[in-house]
Amino acid sequence: MITFDHVSFRYDPDQPLVLTDISLQIERGDFVALIGHNGSGKSTLAKLINALLIPTEGDIHVLGYSTKEEADVWAIRQHAGMIFQNPDNQIVASIVEEDVAFGPENLGLETSLIRERVDRALDGVNMREFVTRPPHMLSGGQKQRIAIAGVLAMKPDIIIFDEATSMLDPSGRQEVMDILKELNAQGITIVLITHFMEEALQADYVYVMDQGRIALSGSPLEIFDRQEELTAMNLEVPEILVLTEYLKQHGVPLEPVFEQADLVRQLCQLK
Ligand code: ADP
Repeated sequence: MITFDHVSFRYDPDQPLVLTDISLQIERGDFVALIGHNGSGKSTLAKLINALLIPTEGDIHVLGYSTKEEADVWAIRQHAGMIFQNPDNQIVASIVEEDVAFGPENLGLETSLIRERVDRALDGVNMREFVTRPPHMLSGGQKQRIAIAGVLAMKPDIIIFDEATSMLDPSGRQEVMDILKELNAQGITIVLITHFMEEALQADYVYVMDQGRIALSGSPLEIFDRQEELTAMNLEVPEILVLTEYLKQHGVPLEPVFEQADLVRQLCQLK
């Protein structure tokens, strides 16, 4: 679905490389998290996926399309939608349904088809009842869900979330993470850039970026087991794993857990 083949990138010919020799492969339906300290190159990598940036060296293919082919860029952006940090910057209309309709209108679809796509997309983010509301009256989490609906209305195969929860309060973050997991369960490929380690735990596979390179990659359990290396890269192990490890060392038999609710459930089942 997404392949990076020895990709390097610099913003300015006079500046050093911001990404160096990145190779990776993301399969259809994957849920991949990208973590790393500030400035490690996560956002740059995300923008390379949907051709907002073009590699300085190497090649990127999205659904077989090369991001270097200008003729393919439109197709790539249709298939790979992006959700950014600030929900306010992504709202383009003054009524929710007009906002969500913006993409399909640009595709030149018939009015009835647009209506259908808007309704489906709003259902997909549980926001149908807000269809005629002005987006600026909504909470941050709700606005992000409208932005996600805008992407869904394009029927994407991939959604890239670039720190999409970082401006939200905990309940807004949870709303967006719930939607994200639901979309992944429906088969949409998810690339989640986040500085919340708990969010990365939800992914199937984690890439850790450091100074423009992929420093580590593996399942969340494999990655967060490497505490020393993470600390050296200014990253923390999620609290839930620290707590579980502590309990295990003190003789509490626990299966690996990623979510508080699961830990509580396991603890309650102990005899
Ligand atoms: P992250 O998302 O991990 O915080 P970024 O991809 O935003 O990292 O940034 C990687 C590096 O590229 C940083 O050194 C940053 O200063 C630099 N950078 C980011 N955007 C630009 C830009 N538009 N022009 C020049 N340098 C940039």
